[in-house]
Amino acid sequence: AQKWILAKHFSGEPKEDDLKLEEEELPELKDGEILVEAVFWSVDPYMRPYTARFPVGITMIGSQVGKIVESKTKDFPEGRYIVGYFGWRTHTVHDTTKEPLPGFPKAHLLPDFKELPYSLALGVLGMPGNTAYFGFLEICEPKEGETVVVTGAAGAVGSIVGQIAKIKGCRVIGFAGSDEKVKWLTEELGFDAAYNYKTKDVNEALKEGAPKGVDCYFDNVGGDISSTVLNHMNTRGRISVCGSISSYNADPANYPRAAIVQPSMVFKELRMEGFIVHRWTDRWMEGIHTNLKWIREGKLKYRETVTEGFKNMPKAFMGMLKGENTGKAIIKA
Ligand code: NDP
Repeated sequence: AQKWILAKHFSGEPKEDDLKLEEEELPELKDGEILVEAVFWSVDPYMRPYTARFPVGITMIGSQVGKIVESKTKDFPEGRYIVGYFGWRTHTVHDTTKEPLPGFPKAHLLPDFKELPYSLALGVLGMPGNTAYFGFLEICEPKEGETVVVTGAAGAVGSIVGQIAKIKGCRVIGFAGSDEKVKWLTEELGFDAAYNYKTKDVNEALKEGAPKGVDCYFDNVGGDISSTVLNHMNTRGRISVCGSISSYNADPANYPRAAIVQPSMVFKELRMEGFIVHRWTDRWMEGIHTNLKWIREGKLKYRETVTEGFKNMPKAFMGMLKGENTGKAIIKA
């Protein structure tokens, strides 16, 4: 078995030698345990800031879809597939009574979506899909005819948020980091407008794309783009703060001075709320089943950027942070 360990804490952009590939001996299975062989791994933005909470030498944190190849519990039979936060490892001996990573949800068997790739359990039919579903619907509370802005719009979460907003009858404007991504959003996903934030002035884009102002803002990126969107919010607009990827490589002690949000918050009576998707653990399957239904009805499309081979996981992780993915970044065994 192999695992990637955190050899050094990240400083600035993650680098090749911050991570190290190691061999590991697996223990014998005890009652209640299963042996899982990974088939797909996920690389996600949270891995960059979250690792700072753990000591050097830990197995890199992360979720995977794996096949149960040996089992000592009838609840998790051999041959079934499972999704869990087992970390960056090829094989895992897992005690099914416990959370694999403290503070993260328990592992669970894959729901039945046999006609679709199992990797979707790490994307639209997993944590990122539920982030879009709950983080947008519960916090933005979109109404038909409202204008919605999504940043990080061509990524795993953003691409689903924009499409859910369309399902709810909203006008949707997306920001992403390449012309190819922008084209995908407008031509295939049905966004009303999309802009490359690297080449288009965000203020001008909003004047053009959201002439009636913005009612809902789903914020994946933070920073300057978000400060600009704030200036375009309508009275009693709602802002769902999902992520802040533009600052994940910065040291919190040196964060750039934030825009002053209070005047907009007060005079436009805005509501801004951050969240962590695990808030909705009790309703987890509702999000997955609704997104699955929308996929089957042809209303929700997804894309994956797949990297082959466990040894290429760090490369996929670093690439995702730089925007090399469209849709969900996945690694295939
Ligand atoms: P993505 O698939 O969107 O991948 C990350 C993307 O971020 C890149 O493709 C890149 O796209 C974009 N990006 C990188 N740097 C910048 C920058 N400086 N400014 C703007 N965009 C940038 O990842 P996810 O969909 O998995 O996650 C999106 C966000 O949602 C992240 O902030 C993440 O932390 C957050 N999140 C929050 C959760 C929660 O519970 N609150 C749960 C899951 C995710 P581009 O080419 O457009 O620059």
